[in-house]
Amino acid sequence: MDYSKPIEIAEDIFWVGYQIPNDPFQCHVYLIKNGDESVLIDPGSMITFPITINKITQITPLNKIKYIICHHQDPDITGCISTLEKLIPRKDKFIVTHWRAQALLKHYKWETPFYLVEKNKWRLILKNNKILDFIFTPYAHFPGAFCTFDRKTKTLFSSDLFGGFTEEFKLFAEDENYFASLKAFHEHYIPSREILLNALMEIEKKEPELVAPQHGSIIKKELIPYMINRMKELNCGLFLLSSYESNIEILLKTNQIINEVFKEIVNNSNFITVLRKTYITLKKNDIPIKDIIAYAYDKGEKKDGKDWYAVFSTLKGEIQKPDIEKNKSIIKTLVKGISKPKCMEKIKLVTDNIEENLNVFCIPLASKRNSLKAVIYFVMKKELNDKQRKTIEEALDKLIHPLSSSLANEILIKELGEEKKELFNTAIHDSLTGLKNRVFLESIANNEISKATRYEYPLSVIMFDIDHFKTVNDTYGHLAGDFILQEISKIIKTSFRATDYIVRYGGEEILAILPYAKEKDACKRAEHIRELINSKEFILGNKIIKTTISAGVYERKDETEMYELIGKADKRLYKAKESGRNTVVCDD
Ligand code: GH3
Ligand code: MG
Ligand code: MG
Repeated sequence: MDYSKPIEIAEDIFWVGYQIPNDPFQCHVYLIKNGDESVLIDPGSMITFPITINKITQITPLNKIKYIICHHQDPDITGCISTLEKLIPRKDKFIVTHWRAQALLKHYKWETPFYLVEKNKWRLILKNNKILDFIFTPYAHFPGAFCTFDRKTKTLFSSDLFGGFTEEFKLFAEDENYFASLKAFHEHYIPSREILLNALMEIEKKEPELVAPQHGSIIKKELIPYMINRMKELNCGLFLLSSYESNIEILLKTNQIINEVFKEIVNNSNFITVLRKTYITLKKNDIPIKDIIAYAYDKGEKKDGKDWYAVFSTLKGEIQKPDIEKNKSIIKTLVKGISKPKCMEKIKLVTDNIEENLNVFCIPLASKRNSLKAVIYFVMKKELNDKQRKTIEEALDKLIHPLSSSLANEILIKELGEEKKELFNTAIHDSLTGLKNRVFLESIANNEISKATRYEYPLSVIMFDIDHFKTVNDTYGHLAGDFILQEISKIIKTSFRATDYIVRYGGEEILAILPYAKEKDACKRAEHIRELINSKEFILGNKIIKTTISAGVYERKDETEMYELIGKADKRLYKAKESGRNTVVCDD
């Protein structure tokens, strides 16, 4: 492509710019040839001007230009107009712009009058059925910014949108790789994503088939949807990131890291996962990261009254029993509390008994809600160059608070989970005997019956009752009664399988539910327990107490409710009592 000549990019539309040597910030000028109503778009700076004029005259005499579009007021668009208007002698020419730009441009005291887009229904109707539509793209990057759309060729003159920083001049974007140049350009040039999204939405409505930006490269039809879609993800307003750093490359990387880590924090409640993803993100963004090590410390407010420490390394995982003595100096800094990211050169870290002298960035985390403090060390493989150092410093500065809340959240979730478990556990157990209670029985009863029905296995129940327990209380006192009840509960509990359910059903009545047990087996076990208790001497102080129990056993036939089974076992228990106690009854 011969850039020294005008280049026709669509029918009667010409690139008449000039390739500024060694400048990633190219400025394009376009000419729409339309008889004596030709249009010049963003004519540009005085640097490109002489070449541009020469190229225009190769296509059309200057006095055929009737309209000069200024998409906004920047010098690379308007710098040449004072000179240009004198070269176009016709009186009926116009500067096409938005009133917001006119408010500034009038200070040039040009002779040419303004054609204001908003006062003219956002369009310009030209000879030969040529219609130009103006698309309002406010704040991208100027309050009165707009683009121009040629209906006939579906060419969008997009001004600063779709622009790019290009190391090597290319009039046309070759492939998807142009997005990288475009990203850097937009993230710092456009103040916010909302502004960009609004502009893109308006542009999409027109379905452009060629995008001709003022900077960067022209985008052909097949690449337009790709670029628009990817532009929607851009994180604009880059300079908001840092008040001091102005290097766009550093800001871009920092922005990328922060956004990726943010996403992980939002999507993951697990702090360790967040750290692992942070490690991957840093690596991907050219930070020579070797390991991320988190030390957590909680001042002895836990049950055992001891201080609590945890050490996690993305390389080595959770370090069981961290050697606190060796890590004391690290923990000391942590406890003293540092409030900003700090680069500690040649710090000695001890993880897993490997001592290393390393370059480390460290950030402190603290949760306001509890006494937990943590410090995270970002350990580097090698010395960082200036750009890497600045990138990680900026990124870590912004990540302290989100990482702190990620950690605090995880602790909160864990604590709530444990509390919930504890509460549930208390609710389903009897406090005196430690056996399950009737709340628990309610929660499993129907399920156990339907499982036994569905899978056709036997289910037996045994109801135990201590004989003449009232007499035990009356003779030895209630505390002795409690003791006997606890001891008998223990004997019963340990005589069954872990999959059987043992429930304190009433005062001194204990119910056993035995899935998979036939009546015969259940009877055997009940009999065995009866014998154990019969031969047992309960010793309390200097007293020896003897007692017995009775039981009723029943295997499910076609009952569908647990209480029916219990009722039938209870009947047999009554029979056992009637027949003189210290007996197990297995039939009616
Ligand atoms: P039977 O052989 O007919 O079962 O006679 P019993 O005395 O065991 O039966 P009864 O139902 O008349 O009395 C049960 C007694 O169990 C009454 C109550 O004081 C005692 N009891 C129930 N729960 C507890 C408890 O938690 N601790 C103590 N110490 N006694 C209890
Ligand atoms: Mg009793
Ligand atoms: Mg009783």
